[in-house]
Amino acid sequence: MFDGPVVHVVEGRQRKLLDGSPWIYRNEIQAIEGEPIDGDLVRAVDYRGRLIGLGIINTASVITVRLLSYREVAIDAAWIAERVRRAVAYRAIFRRSDTDGVRLLFGEADGLPGVVADRFGPVIVVQIHARGMERWKETIAGELVALERPESLVFANDDPIRSREGLPLYRSVFHGPDLDSVLMRENGLTFQVDLRQGQKTGHFLDQKANHRFLQKFVRDKTVLDAFTYSGGFALHAASAGAAAVEAVDISAAALDLARENACANGREDIRFVEANAFDHLRNLHAQGARFDVAVLDPPAFASSHKAQAGAVRGYKEINLGAMRLLPPGGLLATHTCSYHMPEDLFTQTVLSAARDLRRRVRIVAVRRQDYDHPVLAGHPESLYLKSLWLQMLD
Ligand code: SAH
Repeated sequence: MFDGPVVHVVEGRQRKLLDGSPWIYRNEIQAIEGEPIDGDLVRAVDYRGRLIGLGIINTASVITVRLLSYREVAIDAAWIAERVRRAVAYRAIFRRSDTDGVRLLFGEADGLPGVVADRFGPVIVVQIHARGMERWKETIAGELVALERPESLVFANDDPIRSREGLPLYRSVFHGPDLDSVLMRENGLTFQVDLRQGQKTGHFLDQKANHRFLQKFVRDKTVLDAFTYSGGFALHAASAGAAAVEAVDISAAALDLARENACANGREDIRFVEANAFDHLRNLHAQGARFDVAVLDPPAFASSHKAQAGAVRGYKEINLGAMRLLPPGGLLATHTCSYHMPEDLFTQTVLSAARDLRRRVRIVAVRRQDYDHPVLAGHPESLYLKSLWLQMLD
């Protein structure tokens, strides 16, 4: 039996936890029995004292308890290693031989709160964003090395978000050489991953399936990839026989990477434009430009619920801008990676742009983040990427 500190959850809040949410917010805690140190294991109980689960506490964080188990179990190295094994085994169902980039651990959705591990070709990059998981980092890394046999494994624990958890910022090598950049394969294409300067952990793995899906629509077509980052959609389009591809990003560093990727795949014909996509879409319209296919994949416009209204305006503007460039029959692949834009609100926002333009659209597909970013039932935060594919009918 676990005999550590006990967290009493406010009456009524047990329901969402039993539905699968792993987060107990500060204002959902009635009382704490015992004197836990941040990072300690605690038992969470409901208002009648019944077990909800075991979790890790961090009183410095608004997400004060992150649940690990809904049963009375010994949370030890063997238990943590088993979680890693299950996560990797799940990936095996969908892994493709032409792709060696994969998110191996996706935090809460894999039962390891705040722990992210990405494989980019020969390297595994691990990030830990939860105080109580820091102590398991060697166990997690050791298991990943044993299962995956990477050339190297690094901890990229330098995300400023760690400061909020009271954790130090550092980068360190757990296994193998300390590489600056590596090559990975995605759907048979080669991408360079910058392990030091890259955004997030260096390459967006959540769009692999959507990159591939785009290839169905682009043969002999003109394609616009706004917010291209390392050129993912643009390169997939070019290699699937697009007639012309234009890729836009506001970041010169992102475009350098995208250009290198284009060269590495023999696709020097992609046109790269350094611009603010909002302005660029407007300018293209003013010039009377047309594209058969447009992709929008902006960064999260809403990083909090409060920012939602502004985000809706932003999404509407770029979607309107892209639709104006599409002829009848044209295809729009539009994305939001903000948890604060739920699927229905995002769809309404995009469709309101079509309404303003008095255009009919067909909903071709409603997609999400790739399989290796699993969605945990009861934890809507784990479903963050929404992908809506529309065809303009008139
Ligand atoms: N489509 C990419 C991921 C895009 S990430 C993929 O499939 O991998 C979002 C990108 O938007 C970043 O590269 C960022 O530099 C760029 N960005 C942010 N604001 C922008 C703006 N206003 N105009 C153009 N690009 C922008």
